[in-house]
Amino acid sequence: MAVLAVVGANWGDEGKGKITDYLAHNANVVVRFQGGSNAGHTILNSWGKFVLHALPSGVFYPHILNVIGPGVALNINNLIQELQTLQDRGVPTPQLFVSERAQVVLPSHVALDHYEEDRLAANQFGSTRSGIAPFYADKAFKIGIQVADLFHKGLLRDRIERNLALKNILFTYGYGKPTIDPVTVTETLWQQGTQISGYVADTTAILRNQWQDDGTIVLEGQLGALRDPDHGIYPFTTSSSPLAGFAAVGAGIPPYAITRIIAVTKAYSSCVGAGPLVTELNGSEAETLRSRGGDAGEYGATTGRPRRVGWFDAVATRYGCALQGATEVALTNLDVLGYLAEIPIAVGYRLDGHVTHEFPITSRLMEAQPIYEMMPGWQSDIRSIRTYRQLPSAARRYIDRIEELIGTAVNLISVGPERDQILVKE
Ligand code: GDP
Repeated sequence: MAVLAVVGANWGDEGKGKITDYLAHNANVVVRFQGGSNAGHTILNSWGKFVLHALPSGVFYPHILNVIGPGVALNINNLIQELQTLQDRGVPTPQLFVSERAQVVLPSHVALDHYEEDRLAANQFGSTRSGIAPFYADKAFKIGIQVADLFHKGLLRDRIERNLALKNILFTYGYGKPTIDPVTVTETLWQQGTQISGYVADTTAILRNQWQDDGTIVLEGQLGALRDPDHGIYPFTTSSSPLAGFAAVGAGIPPYAITRIIAVTKAYSSCVGAGPLVTELNGSEAETLRSRGGDAGEYGATTGRPRRVGWFDAVATRYGCALQGATEVALTNLDVLGYLAEIPIAVGYRLDGHVTHEFPITSRLMEAQPIYEMMPGWQSDIRSIRTYRQLPSAARRYIDRIEELIGTAVNLISVGPERDQILVKE
């Protein structure tokens, strides 16, 4: 029996989808516990390449119960489209359960996200414009719509009217945009409710039963620790907590049920959106790393935007692992660094003439300069290697040094985007 959380140690895009997919074959349940369609988890398997936004990464295994927990921002259109894509591409129909307590992303959330990013122009946050911040704001305002509301038309209409009352004033007078008609939204959501009714369940009870029956449950995080609204690089953060501590809340299981916390980190840094990235590269150095990264270059899985890239940041990653309470680390994209004769690792920051190893508050982080240590590169293609011992000694030394600097054992090493390109370090 195990409940394990697979979470990001950094800014997101660490390769959590690939690691969840790898771990899922031994699991009974895979749960998404927060966030929404603003992030994409890339998975390559025998059916091809998939980028999952709404569905849990266990959908490629027919034996797995896939759960969308109460903490998720559910975009029903995305969900239906993704299910259709799986069907079109020959993937067996997955077992899926959507929490009746999950809340629904509304057209007003997406509209507001667009209008506000446009208004902010040069100061925008780099939102994916999926409506996630307005969604969580409405949840806190207590004017959100729960999945269960979709099946009571009168109540649904009342709640939509309440939700849109203030927003329509803002759209008209704040942004000079058209209002949204509550009747049309009610009709759309009512129909969407019909489409997903077969999946809706009390997922908290399902998880409790699985846990009590000694099932193995994988809690799949979205984005990474440094995007946490309380502990991350606020305001360049996301709107729900991507921490393993929140996984218990967002999924609906006891906190003490989680026994393994696998923090995923790349062998270098990558980041979509705005905010300080101390080891960021520019120019041709960045372009070379970006074009070699991931499975097809470092471009956002959701937006296609070029990701910002840089060298491995041990200060940020140690902080991220500590926030997650990581019991172990999965290091991904190690293969990507095979072109380098020497590989820099940021081991500290220079700040106001001092050296620090602690991750500072955002305003100070913007002034931090990286202090690099150079590691020898292995200058070879390691993608076909399948055991840790076969790795070139320079690659093993790179991993050992990362372990030392972040204070957490690296147990899984990914050497390519495919399911079998993974090494277990004993
Ligand atoms: P997630 O949201 O954390 O699942 O990460 P993304 O899917 O947004 O980004 C991770 C990227 O790295 C995707 O393009 C993956 O296919 C790719 N990837 C994952 N592990 C590896 C690896 O070990 N090597 C390479 N080259 N690509 C990888």
